[in-house]
Amino acid sequence: MTPLNSLNFSGGPGVLPSSVLQQVQEAIIAVPGVGLSVLGISHRSDWFAAVVAEAETNIRTLLGLSENYHVLLLQGGATQQFSMVPMTLLAGKTQPAEYLHTGYWSGKALPEAAREGPIHVAWSGEASGFSRLPSDDELTFSADAPYLHYVSNETVEGLQFHRVLGHDAVPRVCDMSSDFLSKPCEAERFSLIYAHAQKNIGPAGVTVVLIRDELLNDAPTNLPGFLDYRKHIQTHSNYNTPPVFAIYVTLLVTRWLLNDIGGMAHMDQINRQKAALLYRLLDQSDDFYRGRAAVQDRSLMNVAFNLRTPALEKQFLSESLAAGFSGLSGHRAVGGLRASIYNALTLEAVGKLLNFMEDFQNRQLR
Ligand SMILES: *Cc1c(COP(=O)(O)O)cnc(C)c1O
Repeated sequence: MTPLNSLNFSGGPGVLPSSVLQQVQEAIIAVPGVGLSVLGISHRSDWFAAVVAEAETNIRTLLGLSENYHVLLLQGGATQQFSMVPMTLLAGKTQPAEYLHTGYWSGKALPEAAREGPIHVAWSGEASGFSRLPSDDELTFSADAPYLHYVSNETVEGLQFHRVLGHDAVPRVCDMSSDFLSKPCEAERFSLIYAHAQKNIGPAGVTVVLIRDELLNDAPTNLPGFLDYRKHIQTHSNYNTPPVFAIYVTLLVTRWLLNDIGGMAHMDQINRQKAALLYRLLDQSDDFYRGRAAVQDRSLMNVAFNLRTPALEKQFLSESLAAGFSGLSGHRAVGGLRASIYNALTLEAVGKLLNFMEDFQNRQLR
């Protein structure tokens, strides 16, 4: 029987590579070479300093990131970044920061930013039910905003930008929580990238922040220490007790990306293959499976779709669950169905889902 982990299509926390889970299982009892459980190793140990240093190096290598970026491993999830970013870059400013409202998660960032300073929503997809992203013709960016904020992959709606947005004169800030390390991302065109681990690169509890050094030049000096990026830089992501376990698992995933997958270009190739198979099935289903996102904005990570009726969707969910597929229900905010096909979800698992979906459709038509 296929282990259930391989058929985990959850939107998040997402599937992790089986080889990583096996190493984690061992490390829970004793980390090889250390002889202590990963859950009980001091965050002040040399071992943990080496874990942080290697995780940082691996992320730099995977993205080709230069030394003028800091790589931070923080807590508080992406949600804390919704506040930490404007507290650092917007407080006291008179020019509004530009935000795109392209779906559920970018919508969550807006009120948090507005609490700290002026914002301007440069485009909203609300009128179109967040079924598409803006084209370049619909976007005009100011050249003197403190920064531009957007979400690269709207996890709930299954929408993904396939280009970098904005004005080169304005710092780009991007929430890449659900497509970080899924492909090359031109990281150096961004001034700040944040991504929690639990969609694509680890368990919940750690959030990766890449931040350009000069972005912090005028940051307020009266921030609470925990919310001040500089404190985390000075302490090498060890300001208070960090989530040692989550950081260790994330390190194992970065090793897997480097050594087993062979880097971002190859990861991208695999992810594109998986997404193409699923979208082709939707497109060839005579409208039985209805893709939620506009074709040009389809996410390679989250394939959101509907069936003709909510009752049929319910039946699909219960039958898919019985067949061993987990996590196929849509986000509670939008309903419907969603197959999340993060890095560790294998081509083989996608093949099994395709077979199930074809079979399900055939049985309805009989
Ligand atoms: C899941 C998700 C979030 C929320 O992250 P938390 O770590 O739960 O705060 C934010 N942004 C995006 C794009 C997400 O997919």
